[in-house]
Amino acid sequence: MSGTNAQALPELKLYNTLTRTKEAFAPIDPAAVRMYVCGPTVYDFAHIGNARPVIVFDLLYRLLRHLYGADHVKYVRNITDVDDKINARAASEFPGLDLNEAIARVTFTTEAQFHDDLEALGVLHPDVEPRATEHIGEMRQLIERLVASGHAYVAEDHVLFSVPSMPDYGKLSHRPLDDMLAGARVDVAPYKQDPMDFVLWKPSKPGEPGWPSPAGIAAPGRPGWHIECSAMSWKHLGETFDIHGGGIDLVFPHHENEVAQSRCAFHANVMANVWMHNGFLQVEGEKMSKSLGNFITIRQLLADWPGDVLRFNMLRTHYRQPIDWTLKGLEESAKTLEQFFDAAADDAYPRPAPAVLEALADDLNTPKAIAEMHALKDHAGKKALAGTLAFLGFAPGPLREWQASRAPQIAISETEIATRIEERIEARRNRDWAASDRIRDELLALGVALKDNKDGTTTWEAKR
Ligand SMILES: [Zn+2]
Repeated sequence: MSGTNAQALPELKLYNTLTRTKEAFAPIDPAAVRMYVCGPTVYDFAHIGNARPVIVFDLLYRLLRHLYGADHVKYVRNITDVDDKINARAASEFPGLDLNEAIARVTFTTEAQFHDDLEALGVLHPDVEPRATEHIGEMRQLIERLVASGHAYVAEDHVLFSVPSMPDYGKLSHRPLDDMLAGARVDVAPYKQDPMDFVLWKPSKPGEPGWPSPAGIAAPGRPGWHIECSAMSWKHLGETFDIHGGGIDLVFPHHENEVAQSRCAFHANVMANVWMHNGFLQVEGEKMSKSLGNFITIRQLLADWPGDVLRFNMLRTHYRQPIDWTLKGLEESAKTLEQFFDAAADDAYPRPAPAVLEALADDLNTPKAIAEMHALKDHAGKKALAGTLAFLGFAPGPLREWQASRAPQIAISETEIATRIEERIEARRNRDWAASDRIRDELLALGVALKDNKDGTTTWEAKR
C-alpha cells in the first residue's frame, strides 16, 4: 500500500462475470496489481462504442492506482494489427502497393488516430500497449504447448483448439454447449473434428502477411484472433493475473476462447480472477450501424464537443448498464460539467472526495459518484470537488475554450446599441417603418436581436 494518503481507503468491490457476483477485490500480489483489456482492431477511425471500454477501464486504472499506488499497478491494452478487415482496407486504400507495406500504413495511421482521440478524451496511457504482430513468437509457443498436451491438433495446415478436450469449457459465458453452438454460427469446416473447435493458426493466402507456422506445418500462416490476447497477457502479466476487461460482446466467443487457451496451456484454474464487461452502447435509441447511418466516430464527436464532455457523458451511466448515446445527454453533460467547474476551487485537494471514492469502489458506481459531486457543489465542498474532477481526469481548459467559441459574437459596443435603439424609436415615432426595419436588420447582422415589448420598450439580446 502507498503511504502517501492519510485517508482511510474504501474496500474495492467488483462485479465478476465469471461468478456472476459482486466480490471484494483481492489482488494476487497487492504490490503488482495486473489488468488486461482487449484493445481495438486498427483499420479505421474508432467509433463511440469503442470509447466505452477505454473510458471505463481508464477509470478503474485511476482507482487502482489510487488504492494500491501508481507504481503497483500494471495495465496492458493491446493493439490488434493482424485481421481480415485490415487486409481488406489496405488492399482497397493502396491498390498499387505491396500488401505488407499497405497494411503497415493502415495500422500505423489508425493507431496514431486512436491515440489522438484518447488524448482528447483524457484517457491515460496503459503501461504496455502491445501489438499482436510483435508477439507471434509467444503465440507459436502457446500453440506448440496446446498441441503437445492434446488440447489442439493440426488439420489441413490449420491448428485448431479441441473444445471437447476441456471439460469445463463455457464457464465464463455460462452457456450450455448446444447454446454456444447455435450462438456462434460456427462454420463447420471439413477439417474440424468438432464443430465448436476454433482456429489457433491458419495458412496465409497468397500475398497476405505470413509467418513461419508452428507444429511442423510447412506453409507460412497467421494467427487466429483469440490466441493473440492469451499470448500478450502471458508475456506482460504472467500465466494468471487479476483483472481482464472488455465489452460484453467479447464474452463469447473471444474471452471464452482466451480462457480455454490460457488455462489449458498453463494447467491453471483461471486465466484472470476477475472478468469485467461493459454494457452495449446505442445511439438515440437505436443500435449503431453503418447501414442505419448512425455510426459515429470519436473524431466526429470531437469536432463538436470537448473530449471531457464525451467522457463525462459516458460515465453518467453505470458501466454494466446499456448506454443510450444522445445529443440531449451530451448537452446535459456539458451543462453539468460547466456547473462543476464553476463551483470548484482553484486550489484542489490532492485527492478525490471520500464519498466519491466510496461510490467508485462499489463496482465503479459512477451515477452515485456524480450525485456526490452535486452534493459537494451545493454544500461548499469546493476544494474536494476540484480534487475529484482532477482525479477523474477532467481539466477545465478545453471546456472553457469550447464555451468561449460557442459564446455569441457581438460586433458592436453596448453604448452604440443603445444609440441605435434610440434612433429606431425616433424613426418609429415618425412612422418611418423602412428606417426602423433597416436599423433592426443592421443590428441583427452584428449579432444583436431586438425585441419590441408590450409596454413599448425595446430590449436586445445576443443572437443565438
Ligand atoms: Zn482479447
